[in-house]
Amino acid sequence: MPAVIIGRSKRVLTMNEPARQVLGHDASGSHYTAILRQPQVTDAIESTLADQTGRQENLSLRDGGSDELWRLDIAPLSGEPSAGILIVFEDLSSAEGLGQMRRDFVANVSHELRTPLTALTGFIETLQGPASEDKAAAQRFLAMMDTEAQRMNRLVQDLLSLSRVESEERVRPDERVDLAEIVREAAQTLSRMFEQANTELQLKLPDGPVWINGDRDQITQVLHNLLENAVKYGAGAVTVSMTLPEREAALRGPAVLLDIRDNGEGIEAHHLPRLTERFYRIDAHRSRSQGGTGLGLAIVKHVVSRHRGRFRVSSVPGEGSVFTVVLPRLPDAAT
Ligand code: ADP
Repeated sequence: MPAVIIGRSKRVLTMNEPARQVLGHDASGSHYTAILRQPQVTDAIESTLADQTGRQENLSLRDGGSDELWRLDIAPLSGEPSAGILIVFEDLSSAEGLGQMRRDFVANVSHELRTPLTALTGFIETLQGPASEDKAAAQRFLAMMDTEAQRMNRLVQDLLSLSRVESEERVRPDERVDLAEIVREAAQTLSRMFEQANTELQLKLPDGPVWINGDRDQITQVLHNLLENAVKYGAGAVTVSMTLPEREAALRGPAVLLDIRDNGEGIEAHHLPRLTERFYRIDAHRSRSQGGTGLGLAIVKHVVSRHRGRFRVSSVPGEGSVFTVVLPRLPDAAT
């Protein structure tokens, strides 16, 4: 199994023979970006070096004519001060890896669909039997059936969105859109949800337009997913703000940083690296009871990656969380 050790100095300390074959050459002694350059991967490595928390990230490589997909398990090496990190490569493009991924996914989807389906079957039986003459009970059951059907609908919608973004991930969006306007529209569309949840939404946006190359529908979906989460897991106050650095190191150019901040219970650090995995939830029961599918942040991650951006989450347990979307910004001169 390919493995690489990176020291605190960010240089490759050693790599084994399988890693040499996968990555093309022995980079011992060089900065790790000599062999690992993909932005999500360098971000994950930097984060693990900084916070000493393990995380997983996918790496796609082209070997001759074929695409290879690897899952990198990035783990801190123990030691004081930290000894560096160990990266182990798992082959997802081998028949075995792909098969396992597919099996996990099918098992997850089936599990998610079974719960509402079991409920619906139960209600149908009750309506056909004991409650067949009881009009009031029938109304109540129909309302509950409606809730379950909507849950299945949301799950199918989210699965379709996810597969659509994944299939387009390599196609860079080229429509010039005003991000500030999209944020205002999303806030307007969701205003009833905020009212019903008794949550105050504060927008701190620049006065003028903020131009990006973007897919309007997908960016809108990112905002909906993040704002819905901020309401679901927040505690009454949500702020959306933007900053416009002329140069953002990770993107090597002008960027827009969009922060969605809530004042909820927050998220413990060990969950943060896993939040964007499909179906990963901190409290599955709570997520389901609030209509969550567990796919919202996975969709956000893929949309942001298609836009060549970055998605970051930070949180202070007990105080709240900040979800940051970083996107390349078109220079003002282009307006
Ligand atoms: P879900 O449909 O469960 O909300 P998401 O993919 O949107 O799925 O989020 C995954 C998990 O991340 C949630 O189940 C929840 O545990 C956690 N989470 C998301 N947003 C927040 C937030 N603003 N505050 C605290 N936890 C959050």
